[in-house]
This record gives sequence, C-alpha cells and structure tokens, in this order.
Amino acid sequence: MIIYGTKEVHLESMLLDTTICKNCQEKGNITLSVFGKHLHIFWIPLFPIMKKGYSQCSHCKNILEAKEMPDSIRDKYKKLKKEAKYKIWQYIGIILIILLFFPSVLSLSSYMINKDKNLQIDQRVYTTNDGKIGFYMENYKVSNEKNPYDLFCENGEAYMGVFVFNTKNIASDITKKDILNLQITNLISKRKNAKEVVGLKEIPYRDKTIYQKIYTADKDYGKYMYIFNIIDFGKKEDTFAYVIFSTSITYGEKHINDFTAILKTGEIFK
Ligand SMILES: [Zn+2]
Repeated sequence: MIIYGTKEVHLESMLLDTTICKNCQEKGNITLSVFGKHLHIFWIPLFPIMKKGYSQCSHCKNILEAKEMPDSIRDKYKKLKKEAKYKIWQYIGIILIILLFFPSVLSLSSYMINKDKNLQIDQRVYTTNDGKIGFYMENYKVSNEKNPYDLFCENGEAYMGVFVFNTKNIASDITKKDILNLQITNLISKRKNAKEVVGLKEIPYRDKTIYQKIYTADKDYGKYMYIFNIIDFGKKEDTFAYVIFSTSITYGEKHINDFTAILKTGEIFK
C-alpha cells in the first residue's frame, strides 16, 4: 500500500499594523499567513503543489480566506503569497528521484565544477621566445624547469616535453610534418633499436590538427615508447608546438588516448 497525501507548511506571516478589522473595527491586529502545500509519499515530501493562506484578527479571531478578504487586505496577501518561497526540503523527494534515476546529473555537475577549479590550478603554460602554450593537465605536475625549452611534466610514469615554435622562424618550404620528422630523427638517432610502431596519424579537432607518430626504442635499461606530436593550431596562428611523451611501453599503450586528450586542450596564450 502506498501512503500518500498533502501537507501544508507555514512559509510566511505579516502583521498589518495599520489595517482595521471589518469585524471588530480594531486596528493593527490582522496577521496574514501563507502556507505551502506539498505532496508526500510515506511522509517524504515529494514536491510542492500550491500556496494558500488566510488573514486572522488576533482581537476577534475572525479568519478570512483570500476570496473573503476586502481589497485592501487581499492586495497585501497576494504580494506576500508571491514572495513566499517553498521550503527547499519540500522538494526532497523529487531531488532524490532525479539523483536515483539520473545519477549522471550529479557526476556531470561535479565534473564541471572540478574541471573549472582545476583549469586555474593545472593549466600549465609553457613559455618560450616563440610563444606561450597552455595545457589542461589534471593529475600531472611540473617536475623540472631546466630551461624554458625543456619543461617536463610527470605523473610518475610519463614525461612530457613541450617546444613552442613560430612559423616566422621556419623556412617557408618546410612543413609541420617535416618538423615532426626532423624531431624524430634527432631523438631516434641517439637511441638503439628504434622502431616505428604507429605511422603518421593526422588527428583533426575543431579547426586544429595533431600530427602524431609513435616509436619504441631502447634507453638505459629498458624499452621506451616515444609519442611524437606536432600541434597545428590552424592557418590563422603562426605559433605551433612540438610535444613529446616518453613512457614505458605498457603505460604508453594504456594511456595513448590520455596523451592525445592533453594535446587537444593545448591553447595559445598571447
Ligand atoms: Zn477583528
């Protein structure tokens, strides 16, 4: 059996200190009261349905409903009724139902709050003579600032190096893909057993493009994965970035999408 019904809760009251009671002719004894009615199921308030109220004279105890009030009182009653707010707990049932059946509403809103908060904390700006680029880097921290061309971020298992360029400083016949290949050759020539594992990928997003190639190579005691990237911010921008991630192969295979997601947050700061 479902037990349900309605309940009225006091919202607002107001003493009319200059109004004369039509019943007893006494002045200043009439109080207006507004109540909010809500639907409940098993005594849990579900949601409010209507407001109602009355006036009462404390001298003669005469009670008037809205339709019985003289105009001078009814106008003030209407205003009070309009201003009176339902209690927040009168919505508790409908809030619980939304959270129960649409938990994504909760996680989405907390995600948005967290994202905004972290943007201020974790937006990492890389500055070089050629420009500034910021990345949204949740869970990463800057570990090393040896020089402005060589900023590294780590989360323990992956390193990110960012190099900012300006097309003005590059010969016009050299493409961004050429620069990617130059950077790859430069690094790979210092490693043993280098192997291309993923050929050139072009990842378009918004009006921008990421050019990406993935290599493995031996370094010191183990095999590493190197994810080479150029971020092309589009024709309107003369700033572009070369970004390299280096990581263990198992970590890299698992997190390649995270690395690409970080790249897509890259923005030019002027
Ligand atoms: Zn009265």
